[in-house]
Amino acid sequence: MKNCWKFVWNGYFCTIYPMEMAFDEKYPSSLLGNAVDAIGSLPGIGRRSALRLALYLLRQPEENVRHFTESVRRLREEVRYCRECRMISDSEICPICSDRSRDRSTICVVESVRDVMSIEETGQYHGLYHVLGGIISPIAGIGPSDLSIADLVERISRSGAPGEMEIILALSGDVEGETTSFYIYRQISRFGVKVSTLARGLGFGDDLEYADSLTLGRSITNRQEFRP
Ligand SMILES: [Zn+2]
Repeated sequence: MKNCWKFVWNGYFCTIYPMEMAFDEKYPSSLLGNAVDAIGSLPGIGRRSALRLALYLLRQPEENVRHFTESVRRLREEVRYCRECRMISDSEICPICSDRSRDRSTICVVESVRDVMSIEETGQYHGLYHVLGGIISPIAGIGPSDLSIADLVERISRSGAPGEMEIILALSGDVEGETTSFYIYRQISRFGVKVSTLARGLGFGDDLEYADSLTLGRSITNRQEFRP
């Protein structure tokens, strides 16, 4: 029989488990078990990887591990969001909104902070952003009031000349993205703003963060008028 025993090396001793028991909560310490549970709760990290990472951390100098946990804690507890665009920022207004060289008449509406980073990487866009913080999803219980749509409407309404503004709806091309775009269009079209959407490149239907930089840059440059 192949693979019927599992050898688990924890840095000090080797434990041999029957294969079906190998990752069945058989930890020599409840502290190790707790760490595996915490690390394994991250997306894309299975229990085997979580155990490997926990044992790796155990072998590191205490100072390194303290720095690691402190960075994560501070990220969660101290992070701020730009008052204007809701992008992650160390200050009240983010560097993009504070940059006077950017085109202030164009606002690109995206789902997440990661999307802003992807679009910035293209170097093809020089306007401002508005981060929704999610997308309308009845299945996930996310409605318009859970997103920063009202802030976007308020932002447009207090701009001096909404008629000269362009709002780019850069949301994913799936049903939820289309629903969110349509909802926002209905909220903002009364201001007389120009509303556009990304030109879809070949095979570009995925979330923005998975689109390659060249395709994404091209789809922003070649954006089209939004047609509801
Ligand atoms: Zn900002």
